[in-house]
Amino acid sequence: MGIIEKLRLDGKKAFVTGGARGIGKAIATALAEAGADVAIVDVDIDEAQKTAQEIAAANGCKTLALKCDVTDKEQVDATIAEIRGQFGRIDAAFCNAGICINVPAEEMTYEQWKKVIDINLNGVFLTAQAAGKVMLEQGAGSIINTASMSGHIVNFPQPQCAYNASKAGVIMLTKSMAVEWAKKGVRVNCISPGYIGTDLINNAEHLKPLIKIWNEQGPLGRLGSPEELQAIAVYLAGDSSAFTTGSDFVIDGAFTCV
Ligand code: NAD
Repeated sequence: MGIIEKLRLDGKKAFVTGGARGIGKAIATALAEAGADVAIVDVDIDEAQKTAQEIAAANGCKTLALKCDVTDKEQVDATIAEIRGQFGRIDAAFCNAGICINVPAEEMTYEQWKKVIDINLNGVFLTAQAAGKVMLEQGAGSIINTASMSGHIVNFPQPQCAYNASKAGVIMLTKSMAVEWAKKGVRVNCISPGYIGTDLINNAEHLKPLIKIWNEQGPLGRLGSPEELQAIAVYLAGDSSAFTTGSDFVIDGAFTCV
């Protein structure tokens, strides 16, 4: 079998948190195009349903749309149980839901701090733990967390201490779980994107003037697109990445190199 065939995900069952739009939607689309059935997990159930329908219609695969707040352990556990019940197993889990709040450290309220840490770090822990338990029983599975280049560098000029701290946490959580579960068949990796043109950036009025600055800061001179993260998602979800665990893939157009 050639490498392109090996990269296919036929028969695989996957889910993506924050899958309704942006990076999560692009990942879910890619998994379906590669042959997987995919559950779209999101707090925004209307958009999740639209995305699930769109992906099923385009690829003829089975999709699910499930409402879940990743900060709520009961909801997360119930959602993972539902996916396993409907699909029979879980081969790939993308813990991707995240938010950003841009407030100077001295002005950030404790509520704002906790909200970012809760969704971006605690949410990834709860989701990866619940999916990990299923995969440990199966003796196989791949977990992919969405970190960020902001887990490696401090963004400038916009302040985002909670976001940066949460993403650095996701990278070490990824490596910790990877080591604990390595011999049990469960792989854990993360992707660390640079600036990607999604609602997270495009809908934030205060960030729009910064796009020009980021383009000047970055060697490629442009933002990335969600589609430019699809190939790595397919690779990490499938068996051709069997030796890849505990890795953090920085895909940032060389932003963190300078
Ligand atoms: P987005 O805002 O376009 O989409 C995020 C999705 O997550 C939304 O559908 C939203 O409803 C969902 N979500 C938010 N809170 C949730 C919760 N508590 N439970 C379940 N779902 C929830 O954002 P995006 O740009 O696609 O970002 C996706 C991930 O990529 C995030 O973790 C983000 O931090 C990370 N990231 C984004 C960029 C970027 O430049 N866009 C760069 C690096 C990393």
